[in-house]
Order: sequence, then structure tokens, then C-alpha cells
Amino acid sequence: MATKKPGQQRKFVLDESEMPTRWYNIIPDLPEPPPPPLHPGTHEPIGPDDLAGLFPADLIAQEVTTERYVDIPEEVQDVYRLWRPSPLHRAVNLEKALGTPARIYYKYEGVSPAGSHKPNTAVPQAFYNAKAGITKLTTETGAGQWGTALAFASSLFGLECEVWQVGGSYDAKPGRRTLIETFGGTVHRSPSRLTEAGRAYPEDHTGSLGIAISEAVEVAAQREDTNYALGSVLNHVLLHQTVIGEEALLQLAKAGEDDVDLVIGCTGGGSNFGGLCFPFLREKLAGRISPEIRAVEPASAPSLTRGEYRYDFGDTAGLTPLMKMHTLGHDFVPDPIHAGGLRYHGMAPLISHVYELGLMTATSVDQTACFEAAVQFARTEGIVPAPEPTHALAVAIQEALACKETGEEKVIVTALCGHGLLDLAAYEAFLSGRMTDSGLSDEALRSALAAVPQIG
Ligand SMILES: *Cc1c(COP(=O)(O)O)cnc(C)c1O
Repeated sequence: MATKKPGQQRKFVLDESEMPTRWYNIIPDLPEPPPPPLHPGTHEPIGPDDLAGLFPADLIAQEVTTERYVDIPEEVQDVYRLWRPSPLHRAVNLEKALGTPARIYYKYEGVSPAGSHKPNTAVPQAFYNAKAGITKLTTETGAGQWGTALAFASSLFGLECEVWQVGGSYDAKPGRRTLIETFGGTVHRSPSRLTEAGRAYPEDHTGSLGIAISEAVEVAAQREDTNYALGSVLNHVLLHQTVIGEEALLQLAKAGEDDVDLVIGCTGGGSNFGGLCFPFLREKLAGRISPEIRAVEPASAPSLTRGEYRYDFGDTAGLTPLMKMHTLGHDFVPDPIHAGGLRYHGMAPLISHVYELGLMTATSVDQTACFEAAVQFARTEGIVPAPEPTHALAVAIQEALACKETGEEKVIVTALCGHGLLDLAAYEAFLSGRMTDSGLSDEALRSALAAVPQIG
């Protein structure tokens, strides 16, 4: 068992030859499959043909696959090796500062070219689109991480990449825009004047992921050579992210941990959380380990903890299929909190289903509490976290402090899914005392939910 003595191992790294060669699909291991997506017009379950205008056949096949494992193409593994396997750190300095007997591990995805976990799916998505003869991808980006990842992946596979960035994020993070352009992408502030979906809003509107998705989908649907790519929410995206959890399991074994008490991740659309947690859930369902699996979301966009589980659109204009998910209502516009990647009205249907099955728990945190944790983490571990994973860090610290009371040596694992070096405006707001918490009133929630379609 690991103990806390000076000189002890802080990083558990894998050789490139130990990188996973398959993605893990949790669906066949669940007691029942998730409800199917429905056609927005007929309300009948959609078939592969309904998605063919937006996605290549290989990704549609992955979206509906019932196979437990999907091989990672050699070309994708080759790109993954630019930064994968990513390190698993033990937060020894943070543990000491907290005075906790708990052991805290974080899987660090900020070592990727975009600075987050997003390239894990951007790379295969660009690869399969290029293979299908597509020449251009459109997408939305909230915090700028997904736009960066897709621009990077597109450049590797010779695709054009056009990004609608949520207005508030576009204004606050010019560095992200420059990074996307450096990787060869084009960026529009959303709502833009280029689409019908965008023109429905005033030009100076702060925007939302739902609006930006509508814009990107509208443009992709009009052109044969152009597809749309989504950075979270869908089954194939969560599938690609499972390399995170697969590596973490191998690394925890190297650290000598034979069980885990708590796996914690932040949830926007659910992809870094699913990517970390699904391999742990597989092991738990097989009776080999027994962690609690917990999602943490912002108090101002609490789709799991306060949203309703029902069919809703993935975007504001209602262009996407209807998905059964925890939703705040597709035209809900969350407060412009700094964790732009967590400002989504819905939760991945697969995560929503796993939550409904009682296989995981969820909680929400206000942003100032998140940044208190972030600063403590930065000052001990030396990494400035992206605003999104500070939600998971805040809960990891709470739990570690609870262990100090009880004396329990819990093993806590979290995904540090991105660094915050392009999010310094958020830190500046926190450090200067200008950051506030907004929460979400019952009134605002009720009115947003009123727009959700009534399905049988
Ligand atoms: C995009 C993003 C998120 C939110 O998306 P998920 O699909 O919930 O993971 C969280 N953290 C970072 C760093 C991101 O870039």
C-alpha cells in the first residue's frame, strides 16, 4: 500500500506500447440499453440513414454499435502517440496541504495539443470523415477547447474546419481563437449572421452551445462535401474518450492500488466523465472494484441534478434528433460562467441512462468554490486547471477533508481534463474578487423546461 514519505512516486506513466488499442463501449454491459434517439418530425426511432447527412458511416456505426470493444485504427493510434499515454499523477503535495489520509490521483489530459481531452475524439472523427471523402467539418465550441482540438485534427487529415464559437467565450478568450486559427481553422462568433439559426438572435447576444450547434449543423446539412462534428454528448464521442479510463486502470495497478473508493469527473456533455468512468464501471459491474462514481456539474447549468429526464433536442433550433436525456430545456441559456465547456442544456443520453439506472451519483458546485479549489491545486501541484475540471477538484478536496475527520484512507481518482493557461481571465476575475455565483432560480428552470417537446 502506498504511504506518504518524501521521494515517493508522483507520476505513473505508461510506455507507448501499453496504450490501449481498443475503445470500450459500455452499452452491452448495462442491464438494459438506453432509449433510442427519435426523428424530430415523426417521433419514430431514427435509423442510420437519418444521420448520413451529417456523419460518416463509420461513426454512425460506432454510434449504434452493440460490440463491447471497437479497434482504434492504426492511423489514429499514430496520432494519439503524439501525447498518449497521458500521465496519472498522485497529488502528494495537495494531500499534504490538506492533511488528509486519502490518496488523490488525477489523470492529466492537459498534455494534449489542444490542452484538454478533446483531441481523443477529434482525431478519430477527422480521420473517419477524411476516409469518407469529406473535405470540410463544421462545429461549435463553448470554451474553445473543442474548436481547437478539431482544427488540430482537421489539419492532420487535410480537412477544412469552420468553428462557431459561443459569443461570450469568443469575446473573453481571444487566445483560443488565435490557437484555432494557428491550427488552420476558421472561427465565427455565434450567433453569427451566416445562418438562419444565428440571425434569430441579436448579433451581440452572448450565445449558447445550443445556438452554436444549430449554426454548425445548418451549414453542414446544406453541403455534400461538409459534415458536422460534435465534441461531446453522442455515444461515439464517449466511446473514443474511454482511452482515459483504460489507461488510468493500468496506471493505478502500477501504483499498487487494488481498489478505488471514488471516481469523480466534471460533466458538461459528459465525455471526459464517461471516458474516465466507463472502464471503472465495467470493472465495478464485474465485481472487481467497488468505487462510487460521481459527476459534478455547475450550479448554474445543473442538467443531472435539476433537469428532467425526457426527450429533447440537442440544439436550440430543433435541428437534431430528439434524445432522451437529462435536460434543462433546449433553449435554456446558462449564465456565462467561466467553465464555458459545462454550459450545455443537456447531458449525454448514455450518462443520463447510467444515472437513471442508479449506477452513479451527481452533485453541483458554485464557481467561486471551484476556483478556491483550483488555486489551492495550482499552488500545490503546479498545474493551473481549466475552469471545468475545478468542479471535480472541489469535490475531491471536500472528500479528502472528510477523510481527515474520519481517518479513512480513501483512494480518490479524478480527471484533470484540461489546463487553464488560456483561461487566465477567469483566474483574474477570481483573484480580484470580481467572480460571483449566480445559481439557477426555480422560475428560470420552469420556463426553460416549458419549451421541451411533449413526447408520448
Ligand atoms: C469540453 C470540455 C469539458 C466539457 O465537456 P465534457 O464532454 O463534459 O467532457 C470539460 N472540460 C474541458 C477541459 C473541456 O474542454
